[in-house]
Amino acid sequence: MLIYKACPRCSGDMTTNGDIYGDYKECLQCGLMQDIEKKRYTFSAELVRSRRKRSAREAKVAKVA
Ligand SMILES: [Zn+2]
Repeated sequence: MLIYKACPRCSGDMTTNGDIYGDYKECLQCGLMQDIEKKRYTFSAELVRSRRKRSAREAKVAKVA
């Protein structure tokens, strides 16, 4: 996701990214990196939700087969 003019250092555009330590924003112009603490929680909650949905679908398929 691209966030326009969000960089506190140069007012450049920032893109969201993630690694094993969590999600972060990175400035495309100056390379400044900022952690996203709140988004991290939302992301993991969404991950659990999608996993749950998938396993429910797999159970359904198993029943049919
Ligand atoms: Zn910047």
